[in-house]
Amino acid sequence: MILFFGIRPGKTTTINMNHLICSHCNQPNTLSGESNPNYFHLFWIPLYRISTTQVVSCEHCKRIYFKNEFTMEMKQAFENYG
Ligand SMILES: [Zn+2]
Repeated sequence: MILFFGIRPGKTTTINMNHLICSHCNQPNTLSGESNPNYFHLFWIPLYRISTTQVVSCEHCKRIYFKNEFTMEMKQAFENYG
């Protein structure tokens, strides 16, 4: 019997951050967040979530913010989405 298991990305959630101002270009209504969960799967059935990759990007200056650069407001926006 062959076991298929590994890590698969889950569904990407886009998080509206229009109320925030980009700290790089100071433009309002340009930020959006993305949450990408990674699941451990067995036979392509997700068993549990291992980690979640979160990034925030700015449409205006194309700046990408990674988790270690998030402001309090960005963290709160992600937390509100669970
Ligand atoms: Zn910007």
